[in-house]
Amino acid sequence: MKQSLTISSLLDEGRPLRSVEFFPPKDEAAGERMLQAAAEIKRLQPDFVSITYGAGGSTRATSLKYATLLQEEFGFRVMPHLTCVGHAKSELREIIEEFHTLGFRNIMALRGDPPKGETNFQPHPDGLRYANELVSLIKELHPDISIGVAGYPETHPEASSPAEDITNLSRKVQSGADFITTQLFFDNQAYFRFVEDCREADINIPVIPGILPVLNLPQVRRFCEMCQAALPNELEKSLLDTGENKEAARDAGIDWAHNQVSDLLGKGAPGFHLYILNRARAIAKLTERLIGEGLIEA
Ligand SMILES: Cc1cc2nc3c(=O)[nH]c(=O)nc-3n(C[C@H](O)[C@H](O)[C@H](O)COP(=O)(O)OP(=O)(O)OC[C@H]3O[C@@H](n4cnc5c(N)ncnc54)[C@H](O)[C@@H]3O)c2cc1C
Repeated sequence: MKQSLTISSLLDEGRPLRSVEFFPPKDEAAGERMLQAAAEIKRLQPDFVSITYGAGGSTRATSLKYATLLQEEFGFRVMPHLTCVGHAKSELREIIEEFHTLGFRNIMALRGDPPKGETNFQPHPDGLRYANELVSLIKELHPDISIGVAGYPETHPEASSPAEDITNLSRKVQSGADFITTQLFFDNQAYFRFVEDCREADINIPVIPGILPVLNLPQVRRFCEMCQAALPNELEKSLLDTGENKEAARDAGIDWAHNQVSDLLGKGAPGFHLYILNRARAIAKLTERLIGEGLIEA
């Protein structure tokens, strides 16, 4: 795999991209499971993989360790995430330099969520307040890095209105973002409306939909509350119908994700990014089905 190709240049090719998101594991045992999943996912040839930063208490060191392993041991094109949380601007500069030296040419630039136990985001006294400032910093240091930013089809929970959120999104684009990856959503209409709003606001970069194949009803309810995503009645019912059968619930989650992805690709989405929670099963089943249907290339 040619690591030097950026995600922007892949998007320029015009075929639908497939990608997955890992998170840094909490301990050695979870790390082993994640690497096993990565080995299975390797065979499915995703166009890129991303790895979160700081979310759920992970550290700079673990994020970097696993980003490097995914790139070096598995040959994935890796997009490490980076957040402003807890970092002075000088530290952010160091981390960006470190990413660049290690060969990463794609970064997902985020503000980040407040650390556990805190409700409001407090910028570091010498740090950055919003993701658009991080985008500018990365572009200033390394214009050759392709930059992804987060977009919210159902509006970021802190934004006072969808229109304000879109205005703030366009600040990230004006600062140099190359593409948008969305927060998870379960109703595709939210994505299509969001893309329309972006285009009306002159945000013309690709918007990659982020899809979570759900595992069970308590999990999807938790995610919907956390991200303020709507839970469609039909999805809720299909999970309820599976009762105590865990396997059937997982299959119902994969079916829903499959229907979402087919509809999205059929209507011109530039690809799909799967929140796989470090598991290979959903991406394996989805990839097989989408290749069978001719929606993505083998
Ligand atoms: C694809 C994706 C990946 C993610 N990965 C991670 C991760 O790895 N680690 C992690 O901790 N979290 C991650 N998150 C969660 C993310 O950090 C949170 O949603 C966070 O609350 C906002 O981050 P942001 O980059 O969207 O912030 P911003 O774009 O800075 O927006 C934050 C809020 O401020 C407003 N705003 C933005 N810019 C301005 C401005 N200039 N002036 C006034 N208001 C403004 C926005 O409307 C929004 O309400 C991810 C989210 C997504 C969708």
